[in-house]
This record gives sequence, C-alpha cells and structure tokens, in this order.
Amino acid sequence: MSQDEPAFDVILPRPRGFCAGVERAVQIVELALEQLHPPIYVRREIVHNRAVVERFRARGVVFVDSLDEVPAQAVCVFSAHGVAPDVRAAADARGLQVIDATCPLVTKVHVEVLRHARAGDTILLIGHEGHDEVIGTMGHARDQVRLVGDVHAALTVEVPDPQRVAYVTQTTLSVDETAGIVRALRGRFPAIEGPKTADICYATQNRQDAVKALVLEEGIELLLVVGSENSSNSQRLVEVAQSLGARGQLVDAASDVDPAWLRGVRRVGLTAGASAPEDLVQGVAARLAALGGRLSERELIPEDVTFPLPPQLAPARNRSGG
Ligand code: SF4
Repeated sequence: MSQDEPAFDVILPRPRGFCAGVERAVQIVELALEQLHPPIYVRREIVHNRAVVERFRARGVVFVDSLDEVPAQAVCVFSAHGVAPDVRAAADARGLQVIDATCPLVTKVHVEVLRHARAGDTILLIGHEGHDEVIGTMGHARDQVRLVGDVHAALTVEVPDPQRVAYVTQTTLSVDETAGIVRALRGRFPAIEGPKTADICYATQNRQDAVKALVLEEGIELLLVVGSENSSNSQRLVEVAQSLGARGQLVDAASDVDPAWLRGVRRVGLTAGASAPEDLVQGVAARLAALGGRLSERELIPEDVTFPLPPQLAPARNRSGG
C-alpha cells in the first residue's frame, strides 16, 4: 500500500453516537460532580459504555448495582434506562438525594404502562430479558406486564382477556426489529393497543436507517461500530449491516481495530451506538486514517433533539454560563 494514496474510503454517517437521552444522562453526572461533592453514586451503568463509566469512576463516581451499597443521605443518580417505583421508594426510605437521569422517552413508556395497568389491560412488553430498561419498565405493573422477547413468545403468550391487551417496546429496539413481533401480536389480539408513533424513540431507528443507507447507497463493505458489548443498540447496528451483506465489527476503541479486517476493502463505514462518545469515534477514525483511510462525513438523516435537564441541576448550570 502506497503512503500517499489512500487504500480505502471511510464514511462517517450523521447521525451517529450519543442520542439526546444519553447526552442528558452524561451531562447530569458531569453537573453533579461540579455542583455536589463526590462521591456521587450512580445506580447501574449511567449508559452502557465502558469508557464513559471508567472516566466517571476515575473522577469519584461510584457505580452500584443496588441501593443497599449507597450510604444514607448520599447523592444517587438513576441511570438513563429508568427504574421501577420500588427503587424510588427504597431511595426515599434511605433519605438519598436522588437525581433522575431516566430518559424522558423511557418515562413516556412508564406512563403508558401505568395508564394501561389502571385500565385493567395486560401489557405485553417487547424487549430483552434482563436489560436494565426492561427491569425498570416491568416494575411499574409487575402483575400485568408480560415480557415478549421474540415471535415465538408473541405466538404463545397467555393473557386473561384478549380484548384487553396493549403493547409497549423497549426503546432501544427499532420499529424494524419489533415489526415481526407486533404483526404476530396483532394477528392473535386484533384489539391490541400500541404506542403512538410519536412515542417511539427516534434515535435507534435513525442510526439503523443511516447504516442501511451506508450499505445500500454508499456501498460500504465493512462497518465498524464504536460501542460496548453490553450496548444492545450497538450490537443491532452490526447486525443491520450484516443483514444487508456487509461485514460488521463492534469496537470499543481504536486499539481494537485489526488491520487484517481492511485487507481488500475499498469502502468502510464508521458509526457508533447511542451510548458511545464522539471522542472514541474520532480515535478510531484517526487510526483508520493512519492505516490509509480517506475520511469523509455524510449527513444521512436530519436529527435535532435535546431534552431539558432536571430542575435541581439546570438552574445552577445556567448561572455558571453553561
Ligand atoms: Fe432515550 Fe432513545 Fe436514547 Fe434510549 S435510545 S436514551 S430512549 S433517546
């Protein structure tokens, strides 16, 4: 490979990386560190990204799995994935100062679950068992929510009254991913109620649509997705590329890039899951450039969403000119 002639093109799509909910959650912890005294406790990973978690840990943030690990009266941030009401109650009982970084779109799902539960509906939650968001959402109406993980579950789930059924979805699943399950549910329960389109998270779908455009319109052969193993939306981006015939690789950081992947490849896409920070993307881009890649960006889908900060942090930030 000649030094002055790039061996391959690297195309970075927009949108990529942080969604508005993750941006807000990360800002909340930043502001808590600035305005309150460490240690700041965060229940579960604030977002599913190793680098984000490690950087905060180095600055005095303590990540815990359970509120039992948080001293009474301490500051505790709830992650972007949301929590069940019993977690809030336990935090109140311990006198914790709670700062809630639950994404407003996740809160909308919680509100829908409560509304249907009060109406006496059985709520079918389309999502992955064990995901933090799913645990929090199920906790809003444990007796009435049933988890539906795939089409088989949709075809076999039992409900007490087929006329009183609703469904909601884990936000990190795109409309495309849930389409088969929703079709199966509608086939069995014609009266089922679903969320309004406006309630569905824009970010996952946009990032997946951008990957589709990279493969189908830009002709990329290899897609690198910056994201951690436990980030389900990052994994999905890899799968979307693979389903369209491109190769896909998840990378946590620049050091994960194996030059062997690039052999014989002319066009590479570089994107990031909704929980991966842009500086990691730029690190991977720099490594690809060093390996002979010619970088360019494409605006593939317009996206301009932001969410307000919680009131206990926002005013102080405004005072400091942030
Ligand atoms: Fe919120 Fe969507 Fe981001 Fe999840 S993916 S944190 S629902 S904006």
